[in-house]
Amino acid sequence: MMTCPMCGKGKLENKKVKESMFGVSLGEFPARVCNKCNESFTDETTTKKIEQAARKAGVWDLGKKTKITRSGNSLAVRLPKEIADFLKWKEGHEAYIRPDKDRIIIESI
Ligand SMILES: [Zn+2]
Repeated sequence: MMTCPMCGKGKLENKKVKESMFGVSLGEFPARVCNKCNESFTDETTTKKIEQAARKAGVWDLGKKTKITRSGNSLAVRLPKEIADFLKWKEGHEAYIRPDKDRIIIESI
């Protein structure tokens, strides 16, 4: 068995790991999982399969850069079209916004 390259202590075991992206389940994929730190490693073929599944689910490349702009006394965050479409949010959608350390969480009300 191989020693974990992340923690250098655990051993890697062959397992099936549930993959998800942006909260969307992509299915189970073979991975080697560390029995100490729980870090999982996938080979190139599996990584490609996960990418394919993510593309099919419409969540591939959904994380986007955005710029904070000024709107009166407030700051405004532009929601990229892909993210708005994924969430099915339209203009006038009511949301609740709150800080969480160094990020912002915006949820449907
Ligand atoms: Zn480890």
